[in-house]
Amino acid sequence: MTYQEAMLKAFEVVSHQKSRGQPATYIPELTKVDSEKFGVHIHATDGSEAGTGHHREAFSIQSISKVFSLCMAYTLLGEGLWHRLGVEPSGTAFNSLVQLEADRGIPRNPFINAGAMVICDILISQFKDPKTEFLTFVRKVAALPHLHYSSRIAESEKSVGNRNVALCHFIKSFGNIHNAPEEVLDFYFNLCSLEMSCQEVSRAFLFLANGGKTIEGEEILNPSQTKRINALMQTCGFYDESGEFAFKVGLPGKSGVGGGIVAIHPHHYCISVWSPRLNAKGNSQRGVDFLELFTTLTELSIF
Ligand code: GLU
Repeated sequence: MTYQEAMLKAFEVVSHQKSRGQPATYIPELTKVDSEKFGVHIHATDGSEAGTGHHREAFSIQSISKVFSLCMAYTLLGEGLWHRLGVEPSGTAFNSLVQLEADRGIPRNPFINAGAMVICDILISQFKDPKTEFLTFVRKVAALPHLHYSSRIAESEKSVGNRNVALCHFIKSFGNIHNAPEEVLDFYFNLCSLEMSCQEVSRAFLFLANGGKTIEGEEILNPSQTKRINALMQTCGFYDESGEFAFKVGLPGKSGVGGGIVAIHPHHYCISVWSPRLNAKGNSQRGVDFLELFTTLTELSIF
């Protein structure tokens, strides 16, 4: 079965299943999205692409954006990055405070909120205007020159961001945030506010399936760095459901509470799914179901 056939088949099967889960409600703007939206898109490293459903509609990519900020910080700091944060799955919720006390303010990995804030802090220390620099980086990687932050979503999250505020100040108390927490949080809420379609997401992350190079041949990361980012997505990309995602799907990836998932099959393709209803662990229910069936039908995964 070709990728396109498997994608269409899995989409059809999952579309006919009863929708389960609930969309994220803790960010007011996310509650306005139609929870029955469902789209998928695949970009292969040979340049072919295909999509179906609401694959051209922009959605809030939320934590998927943390892969971009991690890649950007990695290109700047190299291995020095890992002095500031770990590379282990946390096994706790994305916004948990509990481990930080024992770990003396060193977040377990770059994808939990605490880790993403340390990455924001690193980028703030590097640039006069980190928000613009980050946008420039994502525009380049995604080949989307008009991409912009959504102030509507960033403000909405800021209005309810007490836990993230607590996290940032807590890390600061251990000395692992060097800049003003307000600045770090503002950057963090903005980077989570990006809106992209499945088609755009699968195109933007194709470099991680292509040894670190865009399909136009521009090197974003070297092959060793690419391997490490994919390894982190495999072990930490799905909150405290990363093990189960590896078990069911067998691909590295990253999810966001907007209901998006991006998954990578190194040397083959990048696939993106969007469906806002989330399971109990905060991952798109249909997204996980679709990807599980997709890799079952293709009989290919990284394992
Ligand atoms: N902006 C969200 C938050 O900080 C990101 C959560 C996510 O997508 O994992 O709660």
